[in-house]
Amino acid sequence: MYPSLGYAAHTHTSPLVPFQFKRRELLPTDVHIDILYCGVCHSDIHQVRNEWGNASFPMVPGHEIVGKVINIGSAVTRFKAGDTVGVGCLVGSCRTCPECQEDLEQYCDHPVFTYNSPDPHSGGNTYGGYSDNIVVDQHFVLKIAANLNLAATAPLLCAGITTYSPLMHWQVGAGDKVGVVGLGGLGHMAVKFAHALGAEVVLFTTSPDKIADAKRLGADSVVISKNPEEMARHSLSFDFILNTVAAPHNLDAYTALLKRDGTLCLVGVPDQPHPSPSVGNLIFKRRNIAGSLIGGLKETQEMLDFCAKHNITSDIEMIPIQQINEAYQRVLKSDVKYRFVIDLQSLKAG
Ligand code: NAP
Ligand code: ZN
Ligand code: ZN
Repeated sequence: MYPSLGYAAHTHTSPLVPFQFKRRELLPTDVHIDILYCGVCHSDIHQVRNEWGNASFPMVPGHEIVGKVINIGSAVTRFKAGDTVGVGCLVGSCRTCPECQEDLEQYCDHPVFTYNSPDPHSGGNTYGGYSDNIVVDQHFVLKIAANLNLAATAPLLCAGITTYSPLMHWQVGAGDKVGVVGLGGLGHMAVKFAHALGAEVVLFTTSPDKIADAKRLGADSVVISKNPEEMARHSLSFDFILNTVAAPHNLDAYTALLKRDGTLCLVGVPDQPHPSPSVGNLIFKRRNIAGSLIGGLKETQEMLDFCAKHNITSDIEMIPIQQINEAYQRVLKSDVKYRFVIDLQSLKAG
């Protein structure tokens, strides 16, 4: 077992504090990773605060991990010591069901999430990336080009794939008008991807001070979503809208903007349900409301390769782990440009 140090929450109301624990000995297909950087996802806050009702403590969050391989198990073929690698939201799945066979491990009925998930190996819970090292089966480890800005690459492992996957599934491309709702960690990646795919991109925000940034990131225009006249100007015009908002809100305001057969895809996971959408808004134009969950391992690797090709990374604010509780407060105020990333050197330095 490897003695490990991380930051954990011990209850849903307490701050994260230093926490010692152990990682498992390497199984034949395991990769042992020294963690360099870990992004801070809004899902970390939902789970630490038990807003999804499934929290188990102590909880070491973190599923946007970039690091270097320290060592490999005897049967590992895809990695060697010194490789730069990533780990996202998944560290296990059944590997045999139709979803796993189709490279859609995120939709497996027996997923093992990177943290706050029953761990079949330890009998306890998985511990995530707010820590100095992690042991992961090679199937769930991604290859990362060492020439990328590694800190700015970490958020691709969740915010990146969660926005890339629906854009691929609904085949967004040139000629499409695409909306992105919310300019946070997920939203700013969605704007970059939709722009790189050649779509016309409209960003919906509640924060007027983000207009200039949204345009710099690739939005063709920006709508202040609290302003009904601005919203109405876009009625019946969108092929696809990706909604990343982490709070319940009225979805009718967005379905009304879709063309016939258009899709509003939800990726934000609020702690309370959205008010029910109006059926009339859906049936008269055969519109769709859909959802999407992160992405499979194959598609995550494709997304990383797409990012390397198009020079896409996340816009980040780097923090030492000692500032994690203040960072959570700022995420809750939508005050981050546009993802916090923890430099794990700060943990190792004490
Ligand atoms: P984030 O950085 O906090 O961004 C959310 C953005 O939503 C904010 O920046 C803000 O943008 C907007 N917003 C916040 N409160 C709002 C409100 N009351 N009304 C309208 N807009 C509001 O969060 P994130 O890390 O991108 O995560 C977003 C959501 O996706 C979370 O619920 C997270 O758990 C979920 N998530 C889902 C998946 C998945 O697989 N489906 C994966 C990762 C995360 P503006 O300031 O521009 O309005
Ligand atoms: Zn996440
Ligand atoms: Zn499966």
